[in-house]
Amino acid sequence: MIKKKRIAVLGATGSIGKSALDIISRDTGNFEVVLLTAHSNRQKLDELSKQFPSANCVLTEDTRQLNRNEKLISVIKNAKADITVNGISGAAGLQPSLAAIESGSHLALANKETIVMAGQLVMNLAKEKNVSIIPVDSEHSAIFHLLKSFNNSSRITSLSEIILTASGGPFRNKSLQEMENVTVKDALAHPTWNMGPKITIDSASMANKGLEIIEACVFFNIPSDKIKVVIHPQSIVHSMIRLCNGVVYAQLSKPDMRHPIHDALYWPVTTPLDLDLLNFDSLTLEFSKPDTGKFPMLINAWVAADKGGLYPCAYNAANEIAVSAFLEHKIKFTDIPKVTEHVLQSDWSSNHLDIEAILEADKTARLKAVSFL
Ligand code: NAD
Ligand code: MG
Repeated sequence: MIKKKRIAVLGATGSIGKSALDIISRDTGNFEVVLLTAHSNRQKLDELSKQFPSANCVLTEDTRQLNRNEKLISVIKNAKADITVNGISGAAGLQPSLAAIESGSHLALANKETIVMAGQLVMNLAKEKNVSIIPVDSEHSAIFHLLKSFNNSSRITSLSEIILTASGGPFRNKSLQEMENVTVKDALAHPTWNMGPKITIDSASMANKGLEIIEACVFFNIPSDKIKVVIHPQSIVHSMIRLCNGVVYAQLSKPDMRHPIHDALYWPVTTPLDLDLLNFDSLTLEFSKPDTGKFPMLINAWVAADKGGLYPCAYNAANEIAVSAFLEHKIKFTDIPKVTEHVLQSDWSSNHLDIEAILEADKTARLKAVSFL
């Protein structure tokens, strides 16, 4: 009898959680779900506990505020998972990622904030614990698998540039003036991906691509000026790498997060997956340059990535506060980058990037952002 892989899914009631559980359900002979966590959706978690009876189901909102993090961390450590899928949204995903790595679990990482806030710390810990971090963010998944396929072959390669694709979101064709008056409903209507509310707003402001620029710098150990962004409205090319010989390699599929999740759960093996195939009989792929004047969150990200230290952490914290304020109708959509720019004006340079310093910077940046609203 084969030993099943023990899987923990953090953020099981969210969009990534749902896609991960779909992939896992297709292969119950191979996977055993040992832990499912969610923040507040009790009804959905109850349904999942019936569907996955072997899983410990934990709702963090049940726990008193002060003990929530400790509770989550202890269940993650006790789960003894082989692979942990982190689909928690926002900065709340950082400590669960560290707990999973500490426990010796591989990490299928959708929570990009983990890498943005504490990239070096997380990568070093993974190395020390001898566990793999496999990106689930579709762009980074594409780059990761493209690079691995070259490393596994006998070809000597040298990466010269990463080209991140971006759908451009719902406001790609709007003028800056029109963007002044967009509503929460307008910003939540993503043209190609169906995702949670935070990342959907980030896609509309292109802060999501900003976070991904920082994520790519750390993951692939490449300077920020070697990371380009190209608008590709169809979301079919998930990202590209340019090698030193000038040749560009791309990964293509229909936009469906089950692809990168499947690839992470089975990595390093490639196994069949029965999803709709891309049909080249009638396929249009468009590419264009992003308008950084309209989307200053891109520039803010390049600046934060370039400065390093605690700047990426501050970028993320300020943006999280700004997005919450926008969702609560307290600020305009075009105020989101202004909040982040304001917070990034403080000095976030530091060589002490331990967890205490990171959590402190996260807290300070949030306070600065709130006082600017
Ligand atoms: P979502 O809002 O749909 O789901 C978030 C999940 O996290 C829910 O299960 C929720 O219960 C849980 N959660 C929220 N706050 C929590 C807290 N404080 N403590 C513990 N759990 C908490 O979000 P999503 O769209 O699935 O995105 C999850 C993560 O994956 C984000 O970091 C996002 O950037 C990343 N990501 C998502 C997609 C996508 O297609 N949805 C693609 C790439 C990357
Ligand atoms: Mg992405």
